[in-house]
Parts: sequence; C-alpha cells; structure tokens
Amino acid sequence: MYRTHTCGELRIEHVQQAVTLAGWVQTIRKFGSITFVDLRDRYGITQLLFGEELNKQLDENPLGREFVLQVKGTVSERSNKNKNIATGDIEILVNEFSILNKSEVPPFTITDETDGGDDLRMKYRYLDLRRNAVKKNLELRYAVSRSTRNYLHENNFMDIETPFLIKSTPEGARDFVVPSRMNPGQFYALPQSPQTFKQLLMVSGYDRYYQIVKCFRDEDLRADRQPEFTQIDCEMSFVEQNDILNMFEGLVKRIFKDVKNIDYTEKVERMTWEDAMWHYGNDKPDIRFGMQLLNLKKPSSVYINKKDQPELINGADFKVFDEAETVLAIAVPGCSEYSRKQTDEITEWVKRPQIGMKGLVFIKCNTDGTYKSSVDKFYSEEKLKAIANAANAKAGDLILMLAGTEERTRKAISELRLEMGKRLGFRKENEFKLLWVLDFPLFEFALEDQDGGGAGRWVARHHPFTSPKPDHINIMINNNPKVEDLDKYLEHPYANIKANAYDLVLNGNEIGGGSIRIYQKELQQKMFEALGMDEHEQQHKFGFLLGAFEYGAPPHGGLAFGFDRLCAILGGSESIRDFIAFPKNNSGRDVMLDAPATIDQKQFNELQIQLDLK
Ligand code: ASP
Repeated sequence: MYRTHTCGELRIEHVQQAVTLAGWVQTIRKFGSITFVDLRDRYGITQLLFGEELNKQLDENPLGREFVLQVKGTVSERSNKNKNIATGDIEILVNEFSILNKSEVPPFTITDETDGGDDLRMKYRYLDLRRNAVKKNLELRYAVSRSTRNYLHENNFMDIETPFLIKSTPEGARDFVVPSRMNPGQFYALPQSPQTFKQLLMVSGYDRYYQIVKCFRDEDLRADRQPEFTQIDCEMSFVEQNDILNMFEGLVKRIFKDVKNIDYTEKVERMTWEDAMWHYGNDKPDIRFGMQLLNLKKPSSVYINKKDQPELINGADFKVFDEAETVLAIAVPGCSEYSRKQTDEITEWVKRPQIGMKGLVFIKCNTDGTYKSSVDKFYSEEKLKAIANAANAKAGDLILMLAGTEERTRKAISELRLEMGKRLGFRKENEFKLLWVLDFPLFEFALEDQDGGGAGRWVARHHPFTSPKPDHINIMINNNPKVEDLDKYLEHPYANIKANAYDLVLNGNEIGGGSIRIYQKELQQKMFEALGMDEHEQQHKFGFLLGAFEYGAPPHGGLAFGFDRLCAILGGSESIRDFIAFPKNNSGRDVMLDAPATIDQKQFNELQIQLDLK
C-alpha cells in the first residue's frame, strides 16, 4: 500500500498511530542533525521530522524540491503548532523513507505567490496545476459542474452527447475545420455549439436535454475568450420564455448555494434590451449600483424606441453638443470636489483609444447648491441645474457628459460608468446580482462584410434558429427582407423585429443566453431567406433541420451558459484561463504542447491535401 492517509488528513487524535504517507517535497529545512520536510499532495501538507539516524541516510540520498517521497512513521504532537494548516497540530516522526521519484529543480516555485510568469507557467502547466491557487480554481469548477448536474438531473434533464465532427453550426464565428481522409477534399466543422443537435433531440421527444460540452469558435481572442470553451447547454420542449427563465435562474441560485453558500432569495430582475441600452449603455449592465445614464437628446437609433425623450441640451451654441448625434451623462455620487487634476485624468481616460472619445464635459453639483461646469461659457447656472435635476444628481455629485455618435458614445459612457463604479467601490467582489435582459432585436444589419457573407444584409443577432416575438412574426412574413437603400436600412420594418431571446447577466457579465426557437418549417425558411440564403443553400446547409421540422417538431427553447466564465466570476477572477486545466494563450496556442503545429508529409498525402500558404 503506497499510503494509509493523505497529507491533509492527520489530526491530534491520530497521535501514536503508525502511518504511511506519499507526496511531493514542498520544502526541506535542516537544523543540525534533524531535518523537517513539508510533504504535499492534493489534500494538504504534513510536516515530516527526520531524526538523527535518518538524517544520515538523507545525506546519502539527498531530497530535493518536488521529489516524490514515501514515508512510514508515527504521528506525534507538535511542540510548535501551525494554526495556518489543518494538520498543523501534528508531525510525522519518520522511521523509513523511500524516494519514489526524483525531480529536476522546478522552473518556478510551487507556491501561491509563485515567481513564474504566465508563459513559463503555461509551458509547465502540469507543475502550475500543483499550486494550491490553481487547484482551488479547478475544485470550484468541479463544484459548479456537480451542482449543475444535480439540479438538472432532479429536474428531469437528460445528459446526451452530441458529435464533434459535424457540419457548420453558425453562432457568429468562424468554424474550425477538420479534413476527412475517407472523403478526400471534404471537411468536417467542429461545433460552435450543439445548437442544431439539441433542437433535433427536441423533435425526437427528449424534452429536457443538457450537456456540459466543449464548443469551438475560431475568433480573434480577447483576454476572456478561448478557441475551445465549455458551455452548459440546455434545451426544453413545450415551454414559453417564462418557463425557461424560471428554470435557469433556479439553476444559478442553486449553484450560488452549493458553491458559495449564498442564499439568493431575491427575485431576479428582468429588463428589456432597449431599457438596458437606454439606461446603462450596454446589453449586460452591472446593476449592483445605480448611476444610470441621462439621455439628453432624442434617440437616434431605431433599435431604441424612446420617442418621448425631451431634448435637454440643444440651443446653447455649444457646437459639440448641438451637432452630436447623442449626448449622455452620468451623475457620480460624492465627487463634486474632484480637483482639476482628477477631472483631467478622467478626460484622458475617455480619450484612450479603447474608449475613443474626443473629450469630457463635467458639471460639479457643489454642496452649497451652486453649479460649476467646464462649459460655463455656454450654459447658465439655471440650465446646469435643470440638467442636474434631470440626471437625479444630488448636491456633492459630479456629472460627467460625453457627446458623439450614438453607438460609440453609448458604449463609452457605459465603460465610464463601470470604471467610476469600480473606483468608488460599488463593484464588490462578493456581491452577486443577476439580471435577465429580454427582447433583443432579431436582426442586425451588416453594413460591412463581417464573415465573408457580403455587406448590406441582415444577420441574426443571436442565431438563425431564434424566433421573433409572436406579434412580430407577421412583420417578418409580410415584408420583403431586401433593403433597397442601404442608407435607410434603419427604416426597414425588419429593424424593428424583436426576438424571443434572453441573456442572463451576472455583475455586468453575460453568463448565459438563449431563445425560444422557430419550430415551423416555413418560418425557418423565411428566416434563412432573410439572412440571404437561397433555397439551394438552405437545403445544402440545413436540409436536415428543415426535414426534421416536417415530422412533428414541438415548440421548444433553451439556452447555454458560458461555463468557464461563470466559474471565473464565482472565483472572483477576470480570467477564464485560470479555471481551465490546460488553456490556450492569447494567440490560441498551447505552449506546453507547442500546438498548433505542422503535420507530417505522410498525413498530407493521406488527406490528399497540398499546402499552398499565401
Ligand atoms: N447555442 C447558443 C449559443 O451558443 C445558445 C442557445 O441559444 O441555446 O450561444
């Protein structure tokens, strides 16, 4: 037997017991004729004491960091107890040891605060995974997956695997493709998600499906993206939107309870996409704090239908505001006494290329009831007060204003709101706030080519299987999708169609999203047509789905959670990579395997493929 106990297990009540432990050497401390060794395994650390006799043997067979060691000995009470570790009351008086394997000196320390940089740790990920900090993340990930499986199982969901070697499932990214040796010149696509399969399972009658599953998307990587990532993918039949929202907010609440011991008893708020954009500037608002946007002009996007918005800003001869498509403000609480240096710094912040604004206007709502702004030349104190009132600003607040084109300004102020929220401590790591965002637009208009499908056409905002809101189906059926005048695409009726789609947002992160699906063949064909697919292309790409819809498809809908991201948020980290055992770097490389890599000529020959790199 290699061990009787783990390195995290022994306590004061085990004193006098003979035990055998096995693990890795964490540290070695020699004091004259005795040596202390910390032995580590997945469960913890136990102190070993090598007395005089064994010390001589150690001199002949010296230990090193990360050696694999087995010891036999007796548990004994420590005189110098260590309150920081669970086994800190005891140590093992070693009688016998055996070096099971040696180790090179590791390239970085296997400690929480390691001296290894990112690249080094990824290259030696198998060593990095020995670190407690990384292990904790994987344990959390496992806890989230166990909780998910338990909840879904209790609710009658069935875990059904779907294939990886398939034909394209569009989710708005490029496919990874795999050449087929047996079918020369032909390629599989790796699934961007199991979307069409889970819908087919609904047609087959498996009315509650789930899978914790890998998805593959060949897109440009950002810090929180991986080319392969994991989803909790779910689908249900005979449901309306509300059934789905209830079921899956239940899942997240259960995960909170099981993983974080948080009782999330409050009702999960629901907000339309339009309200999210209007009040927060983006479709995944962090509602842990207020600081909602003040819209100072009428909306310039048809996607936002706030017709009774008063014009609060025009007519003061301040060209920047008068000529801007959009002027937006936030009232930052308690910051009216910001110095020139501080407001300058925020101005520089919004001018950074990632934010892309030309400047910032501020109004200080002083505690003595006066107002002071950077545009006093143009606006009377009366006018400033009116703006402050409309922004619900209080004495002591600092109003920050941005102006420019609709899309950029809305995005910029939403970033600024998050930044100020962070600076003021409103985005607390251990506070969790869920939000459903509903009623997304069904289509987006691609003025420029996005994915090789050409410019000047409608693209599905979620994916092509998402159904329109029931009372918008007629707009879709009764109108020709073609946009004659590209400049006027916003006037096309399709711009107004809202989808039966929903996203679940946690602390300003989209953690899941889905939709009620189209299940009638004709409507699905109309959708494909709207996206620019002729009948031939529809058959070629989705003939199987249209075929299935001829054999009794039930009404159905579902969603998928970004599993890695959910784990990262629950673990209080920005990076999903920390929660994946073997992640890729920012260029999509596995630096440990050194993949992707070239393949042998023999493999090219078998595939009948010739490389012709441009
Ligand atoms: N397949 C979708 C996605 O990956 C989720 C869904 O609609 O269920 O985003």
